[in-house]
Amino acid sequence: MPLTIWIGLGITFVMFAIAGRRFFWLFRLITAGQPAPGRFKDLPTRIKAELVEVGGQKKLLQWSVPGVAHAFTFWGFTILFLTIIEAYGVLFQRDFHIPGIGTWSFIGFLEDFFAVAVLVSLAVFVGIRVKNSPKREGKRSRFFGSHTGAAWLVLLAISGVIISLLFYRAAAINTGNFPYTNWAFASHALAYLLHPLGEGVNSVIYTVAVLANVAIITGFLVFVSYSKHLHIFLAPINVITSRRPRALGGLASTPDMSMEDVGDNDEVVFGAGRIEDFSWKQLLDLATCTECGRCQSQCPAWNTGKPLSPKLLVMELRDNLFSSADRLAEQNRKYQLAGTEVDTLVPSVIDPDVLWSCTNCGACVEECPVDIEHIDAIVDMRRYEVLIESRFPSEAGLMLRNVENQGDPWGLGKAKREDWIASLDFEVPVVTDTIPDDIEYLYWVGCAAALDERARKGAQATARMLHRAGVSFAILGKKESCTGDPVRRLGNEYLFQEQAQTNIATLESVGAKKIIATCPHCFNTLANEYPALGGNFEVIHHSQLLDHLVSAGRLTPGGGYQGTVTYHDPCFLGRHNRVFDEPRSVIDAIPGANQVEMKRCRERGFCCGAGGSRMWLEENLGKRVNMERTEEALGTGADVVSTACPYCMIMLDDAVRAHQKEDDVRVLDLSQLLEESLDAEPVSVGAPSPDTASAGESGEAGDGPEGPAQA
Ligand code: SF4
Ligand code: SF4
Repeated sequence: MPLTIWIGLGITFVMFAIAGRRFFWLFRLITAGQPAPGRFKDLPTRIKAELVEVGGQKKLLQWSVPGVAHAFTFWGFTILFLTIIEAYGVLFQRDFHIPGIGTWSFIGFLEDFFAVAVLVSLAVFVGIRVKNSPKREGKRSRFFGSHTGAAWLVLLAISGVIISLLFYRAAAINTGNFPYTNWAFASHALAYLLHPLGEGVNSVIYTVAVLANVAIITGFLVFVSYSKHLHIFLAPINVITSRRPRALGGLASTPDMSMEDVGDNDEVVFGAGRIEDFSWKQLLDLATCTECGRCQSQCPAWNTGKPLSPKLLVMELRDNLFSSADRLAEQNRKYQLAGTEVDTLVPSVIDPDVLWSCTNCGACVEECPVDIEHIDAIVDMRRYEVLIESRFPSEAGLMLRNVENQGDPWGLGKAKREDWIASLDFEVPVVTDTIPDDIEYLYWVGCAAALDERARKGAQATARMLHRAGVSFAILGKKESCTGDPVRRLGNEYLFQEQAQTNIATLESVGAKKIIATCPHCFNTLANEYPALGGNFEVIHHSQLLDHLVSAGRLTPGGGYQGTVTYHDPCFLGRHNRVFDEPRSVIDAIPGANQVEMKRCRERGFCCGAGGSRMWLEENLGKRVNMERTEEALGTGADVVSTACPYCMIMLDDAVRAHQKEDDVRVLDLSQLLEESLDAEPVSVGAPSPDTASAGESGEAGDGPEGPAQA
């Protein structure tokens, strides 16, 4: 056999051996994780997601310039796989072509087109990396904290693949070995330049370039297996095994919890205290991260100077996973628990301030191009901290006790749950036994809307709108209790399950079938989390119902409101549950409302800072998230900031007051805005309605909760 074959196959064998050993090591490491049930169920949905997200590069294309560049690189390498076959064929036979398609002009064109497209994309990546360099932009750069050196090496390696490819094709043309016509435009252009060197030199170039191409590709394979570019191989597996339709909405379901299991049963894992407590899918997430920083760039915690970056969190856990490899391979979990001291992830790997900064807003999950499930991992670590170590911010303890003892986070108790209906000029039925047949909906009011003076205004306006449209509804009143969202997001899964089971029993006992929720957190929990515990109800958010009533002509907005409105997307309504259009459609239906969008809206909406149980935690690191969001809202020039969530309303209203803008800008629930528009007399722009002005005053002096914990 000629020397070129020995060299080519020798390089390939060595590189494949090194990469194969590494992949086997990774396989053992990842499969050391806990089970992740259901990750192969509903294959058609998973295959569709794979085709759209990996094949179609859907998420990446949302970032126009880098997305297009990445898509061309991905598609390019898919097509250029043909050239790899051709390079290996050439080792054996200099005029090799792929049987069947290997002489088609179109294939030659496609190969050249994508070779050039990849080169152009690489130039774009260089530009992006220079422009967004952490050296220039500091923490504002999405690459801050990423392994940027490795990224440059990858760009160099890909350039090497393409350049050696074009050289061997050009030399093949000049030596009469090229199987394609001049549709292979780039190869022919380079051949024209190399032609004066003569056939002998071109023959040498041909051999050297083919060997270089094989060496760079196989060397790249080895480099990939040791770097963040593992995603080239792991992303398709990670995407197809991700939670569907997405890892937003409800948290991943957990087994029924019993505190008696703690200590008695080593097999029961309460959250994640050590790396091996994560499921194999969560470990796969860690290995798949590309360090692109898209999650970091959208994270409200990171953007307001908190220590939490979802990217850095993933990278730190990944480092811990890799450094724990020997332990995971050699010891089983029981043995570790029995005799080996292993530091817990918090605080040895993840700082508590990082863990408790998360608002569960979902921006990271939304943005991640490889479908990493950050929130589930964060809540798993919180569960371990709360349930096993009893370590959590001290102010959260009061909220947990309040939910446990009084059924609401503020501890105001059941007695006040019906107060909000007292000022309505019609009767709201309170269910005592079962919901009467002539009542269509159960209105799940939620703790904030029932107990907070400002949020009550939204509940009252919603009730009036429903009444006006002839929608029959009743409330649970004193039978209603916290859905458990704040305690679950804080990590107290045990208390959540208690709350959920009590509420499900109540809802079933009164015969609830159709539920309206004004609070997106209640909406999310009732619709997406209760089914795993046996509670199956048809749940609608009030913004969806109002939109339906307006479109059906049962509510006709009038000229009562004239002004400019900006709508703030509540994370648990928008990103978590994809309710983006309905609230905007209600505002659009108001003749006098000029709707303006904030730059960060819809899927990229910026959190108010209250989710993930942050509503009840001090915020003494960095800038307050609600201040950041409100500044953006004020920047639109709107005189109304509308939203559809009592938490958001409280947070934004607080920030408007902190900016001393309450005389110019009102924070209104969608239902309040709609109700105002129904009035015949337009109000003057900028003047707060008597309702809202009094809401603010009573919010400060009233007996309701005082909103979020203040720094
Ligand atoms: S859920 Fe939101 S706050 Fe938490 S890490 Fe992700 S982007 Fe940051
Ligand atoms: S977690 Fe996802 S979005 Fe964040 S850096 Fe990694 S790959 Fe990028």
